[in-house]
Amino acid sequence: MLVVSACLVGVNCKYNGGNNDNEKVKEFLKDKEYIIICPEQLGGLTTPRKPSEINCLDGRDVLCGNGKVISCESVDVTENFVNGANESLKIAQMFNCDKALLKEGSPSCGCNLIYDGTFSGKKIPGKGVTSALFIENNIEVFSEKEL
Ligand code: SF4
Repeated sequence: MLVVSACLVGVNCKYNGGNNDNEKVKEFLKDKEYIIICPEQLGGLTTPRKPSEINCLDGRDVLCGNGKVISCESVDVTENFVNGANESLKIAQMFNCDKALLKEGSPSCGCNLIYDGTFSGKKIPGKGVTSALFIENNIEVFSEKEL
């Protein structure tokens, strides 16, 4: 059983009210059982919402309390991101998911890349908060870019 970022299958849960609908993802999921999540919505953020970025190394540091997630308007949304990661983990474990297909680049779902915290569009190696929590709990994460 897989857990999948909801925006990848066309749910309008992205910060700007859109989605990241991906044909390759839908083809990959065709014969599989999966459940969709949006950690940022599960953490209580609205859609649309202001974009946010991690202001430290990556999601692992946020989970350790060594970093924050900050919106482009300088609002600290760390608690929403951590709560959303915990709720996502609860769902993944409830459905015995051992793998997660997550949206690359997101501060929640990024598997290999995240934005660098400067809102300049620059990506750096790192994991989103939910992705990091999944890995800590033995759920294998991979992105749509790795299909
Ligand atoms: Fe997609 Fe994850 Fe962002 Fe939700 S939090 S919109 S599922 S990338």
